Amino acid sequence: MSLIERLEKYCLTPAMSGFEDEMIKKIKEDLKDYVDEIRVDVLGNVIATIKGTSPEGSDLMIFAHTDSLGMIVKGVEDNGFIRIERVGGVPERILAASNVILQTTSGKTINGVIGFVSHHLTPPEDKYIVKPIGECYVDIGATTAKEVEAAGVRIGTSVLYRPSFEHLINNRIAATSLDDRGGCAVLVELAQHFKKHRPKVTLHLVGTVQEEFNLRGAMVAAQQIRPTAAISIDLVAASDTPDIHGGNSVKVGSGPVVGTYTFHGRGTLNGLIPHPRLLSVIEDAAVTEKVALQRHATIGLLTDASYVQLVGEGVACVDVAWPTRYTHSGVEVCSLDDLEGLKKLLIGVVEKFPVEESFSRG
Ligand SMILES: [Zn+2]
Repeated sequence: MSLIERLEKYCLTPAMSGFEDEMIKKIKEDLKDYVDEIRVDVLGNVIATIKGTSPEGSDLMIFAHTDSLGMIVKGVEDNGFIRIERVGGVPERILAASNVILQTTSGKTINGVIGFVSHHLTPPEDKYIVKPIGECYVDIGATTAKEVEAAGVRIGTSVLYRPSFEHLINNRIAATSLDDRGGCAVLVELAQHFKKHRPKVTLHLVGTVQEEFNLRGAMVAAQQIRPTAAISIDLVAASDTPDIHGGNSVKVGSGPVVGTYTFHGRGTLNGLIPHPRLLSVIEDAAVTEKVALQRHATIGLLTDASYVQLVGEGVACVDVAWPTRYTHSGVEVCSLDDLEGLKKLLIGVVEKFPVEESFSRG
């Protein structure tokens, strides 16, 4: 299976934060033949290990999150309309009149749409107003609360953008959940490569959980692995569309990206300034592998690497990414060339990883 085929398979797999089981099963199945050990912890982190040839060497964790953002049912009205709450950073601007699916505990998928006031009935003063999530509702075709219940939808049922995967020109893709199924697809590519070319460093390829929700699932994996260094693979928001001015200069199609600074102050209060030595390992690999590498420093964005760095005596961490437009919508757009570049970069990083390096500071 090629990178793009696996990416499509993963993007079409609904797996909201806390409901990652379908992705856990698929990524475990896809990794298991290429690694020495594989296990799934209680939270749902899939931890696959390829033992390095250097027995005294350090451990490197490379991880991508298996979950996606979504919504959750918080109530059902007598007339069958379903009220929802956000799970993760869902932009309310894109919700009205969008297609969704609801996943019942019995494994059934129910189609629905998020309602909006019919255009013909919208007063002019409301035309440009975005409704907060508390005013949004899902219509599954039910006319009573009983019908909703009979369909298997209850408080706590997960609601997701209807999965889609479309080819654009220039080897670009528009899909749901590129965040972070792109990273998951790259993880499997790395496993395939290092099955044939065993690295010096012991490599832990980890599919993490709950990134979009509380960012801390990966921490639990790192507590078990105790890696010296860890690399997060996730998308980064690109700023190359006509509506973004003064963004982070990241462009789709210009290659993978290394994070030099992320920070999120609203509530989360975390971020990542990469370990300087690990950052130089990434940049050196880009030179030797001849991969064009972009850099970004972005406020308002962070990944689960922010929490992995805080494990044990500290873990040297860095974010690597591929550029994506329209992040956290159902039509995220990226270039497959950037994902291929990211894979090439990471192969170079693992092959040349300084296995005796302690990553001590000062
Ligand atoms: Zn992500």
